[in-house]
Amino acid sequence: MIRRLPPAVAARIAAGEVIERPASVVKELVENAIDAGASRITVEIEGGGLDLIRVVDDGHGILPDDLPIAFERHATSKLVSDDDLDSIATLGFRGEALPSIAAVADVDCLTRTTEAPHAWRLGMRGGRVESVEPAARAVGTTMSVVGLFADLPARRKFLRGKSGENGQIVAQVASLALSCPRIGLTLRLDGRRALETPGDGDLAAAMASVHGRGIAEYLAPVEPDPADGDRVQVGGCLGWGEATLPTRAGLTLLVNGRWVQSRTLTYAVDEAYRTLVQVGRFPVAVLDIRVPSGDVDVNVHPRKSEVRLLHERAVFGAVQRAIRRTLAGFAGPRPTTLLGPDDGYGQPAEQGSWISGLRILGQAGGTYIIAEGAAGIYLVDQHAAHERVLFEQLHAAWDGRQERQSFLEPAIVELPARAAAVARAHVDALEAAGFEAEPFGDGALLVRAVPAALADRGALAVLAESLASLADEAPPDDWRARLAILFACHSATRAGDRLATEEMTALLDQLGEADLCQACSHGRPTAILLSHHQLAREFGRLS
Ligand code: ADP
Ligand code: MG
Repeated sequence: MIRRLPPAVAARIAAGEVIERPASVVKELVENAIDAGASRITVEIEGGGLDLIRVVDDGHGILPDDLPIAFERHATSKLVSDDDLDSIATLGFRGEALPSIAAVADVDCLTRTTEAPHAWRLGMRGGRVESVEPAARAVGTTMSVVGLFADLPARRKFLRGKSGENGQIVAQVASLALSCPRIGLTLRLDGRRALETPGDGDLAAAMASVHGRGIAEYLAPVEPDPADGDRVQVGGCLGWGEATLPTRAGLTLLVNGRWVQSRTLTYAVDEAYRTLVQVGRFPVAVLDIRVPSGDVDVNVHPRKSEVRLLHERAVFGAVQRAIRRTLAGFAGPRPTTLLGPDDGYGQPAEQGSWISGLRILGQAGGTYIIAEGAAGIYLVDQHAAHERVLFEQLHAAWDGRQERQSFLEPAIVELPARAAAVARAHVDALEAAGFEAEPFGDGALLVRAVPAALADRGALAVLAESLASLADEAPPDDWRARLAILFACHSATRAGDRLATEEMTALLDQLGEADLCQACSHGRPTAILLSHHQLAREFGRLS
């Protein structure tokens, strides 16, 4: 038998698509404030968003007559006819957010327009209007959402706990702040200020407030290129060097001002950056992509976070060109010498049998290997190069290709308390990264096998040092990748270690000339190439 769902139940199901977690409420409310023309927006969060989400704006407010209507399904002031769906300029347009939020929480809306003599307060309980009364407030709107999912224990179960939800909220607010640098956005978590952007329209300044002052000098604005035509315009600001992170969390993609997620565009960014950041590092970057509104479909997903692009390949190409020209023209610290003068990208013109056929000429300062390859002369940072080789070997373990070395008797590795806690919680990640280990008492690990790549590189000390570093940093998104990076770093040859010619040959053989051009660590180059072309130019041999 088919039955119609009671309206309240239907509303909750629909709400689930829009309001998945506290961060979704924050997104909808802040987007409404942006659409209302606010110049200052403050977000206050208590209890991971379950106790309170409050968004205060100085936008145009809601007319008293419109107030109850705003909470009705498919009521929106932003979409007038069907045709408007093709040219959506505002962030909201479905008229779904407020009723959805009111279906899963109590909402209090305090708002005032310029024309109104005073403010009004509307109270929503259980999806229904409970009260409307005059109140006091300057022009703007305050939305308070209390007891989110209080009646939905099943939904609460899927949440990640207070700090997890706070993390999502911070990421959400950061993206919104970066999409609107002209708006001063402040986020407070349980009264503590977590984020504050100046709202002066300067994108780089907003990025520095989100990701830390230290990155400011490693940011370069993307200048539009007339050659891209008017189908696609790419703007934004790109990070390099210190402005990289061990995760992709620093990448913000905007399409026509809307924050979006797109595997294709993320891949385009990864590809364009590949030769310019170390494996496992990702740039802090905002890409502001503009296409004619008819070329983008934002209406593919209720959360509006995914878009469909009509000319995806053209956008892909424009993004890659924008990244290359911006980084090539960046005046800040960058490995200029990796960028060959001919192709602009340091990729040897042809790849042939000489790969892994580098000829060692010597070692300089106990730190740099001097070698000759097909493209010219390389100065190779031995620590960075070794780190890269080890990372590749550890990486191979992920596909089960890498060997382990088992101990006849398990070894006991003593750890400081916090490192031990990290190890206990992530034995699976250790296993995936090549260490067979189990917790042993409170402050130690029992290790049965180590990755073969680290077997003769003090694997146990490397493990202890890496876990100690992990205990001091924010939990990574990808434990396995982070562990592999730390293992590689802690076991690689140091600067200052004298290397025999055979050791240098073995190291460079494993890397190959093509890889040398691709690996930089933390914005430092692994190798500097003096290309034949450059040498000829320096010596005045070019006619
Ligand atoms: P949508 O944003 O898709 O139009 P919402 O349910 O998010 O739908 O909001 C419904 C309507 O309420 C909006 O169209 C707008 O007119 C009004 N509104 C919501 N929040 C605000 C705000 N902060 N300031 C002014 N108007 C608002
Ligand atoms: Mg909205």
